[in-house]
Amino acid sequence: MHQSILNNLKTIHKRINNACKVNERNPGEVRLLLATKTVSVDKIKTALQAGEGLIGENKVQELKQKSDALRDVPHESHFIGHLQTNKVKEVLKYVSCVQSLDRLRLAEKLDQRLQFEGRSLDVLVQVNTSGEQSKFGLHPNEIMKFVEQVATLDTLKIKGLMTIGLFSAELEKVRQCFRLLGRLRQRIEAAAFPNVEMKELSMGMSGDLETAIAEGATIVRVGTAIFGERPYADSYYWNEHKTV
Ligand SMILES: *Cc1c(COP(=O)(O)O)cnc(C)c1O
Repeated sequence: MHQSILNNLKTIHKRINNACKVNERNPGEVRLLLATKTVSVDKIKTALQAGEGLIGENKVQELKQKSDALRDVPHESHFIGHLQTNKVKEVLKYVSCVQSLDRLRLAEKLDQRLQFEGRSLDVLVQVNTSGEQSKFGLHPNEIMKFVEQVATLDTLKIKGLMTIGLFSAELEKVRQCFRLLGRLRQRIEAAAFPNVEMKELSMGMSGDLETAIAEGATIVRVGTAIFGERPYADSYYWNEHKTV
């Protein structure tokens, strides 16, 4: 048994509910995604059996291994890491949404494969709202054109935007990242591109989920506050060289 995981989940749901109350939002509008990179199948099972339903992985290899081991536990998986185009076929076996769509070449590769399989996929467009070099995601100025282009690919259903906020203890600076994502959503909604919905804002993690909820988050992605510190620095997941 992983009692601490159960306790941590309770605490996170309290934090989410509180933030919703403070901001006069319906808690039903905010989904918790478990960020499960480096977390063992056993621990993930504990969280799923406690009633959680959505997990997110950053690496295709890890996703594949865990998905096979978690086959008998009902859940939904999203991909939240940097996705290489040569992993497209593999990732599509396991996820219902890619939250980290960040370049046209990836969109085209996904579309090709999805056409071949005769199906569609939900995607979120990842925006680099913090300006940090190490983070993946499109520059805010590129978003409108990118969404317009992806909207022409029939198999990809854009459902919203995703961002990783600035790493900072200064929550007001973090808030600016989340606010920017909300403004981009409004702009995209106003453009009314066919085949594009702006239902989801995926933003907020262990340290800043209240701020994200205040700024309109519909999905918060939480790892450390549920499963504890990870054995690797996040740079292992976020500072890879960008590939096309
Ligand atoms: C690891 C990760 C998270 C969760 O971060 P924590 O600080 O551990 O809550 C959220 N989003 C992405 C994309 C991640 O890689």
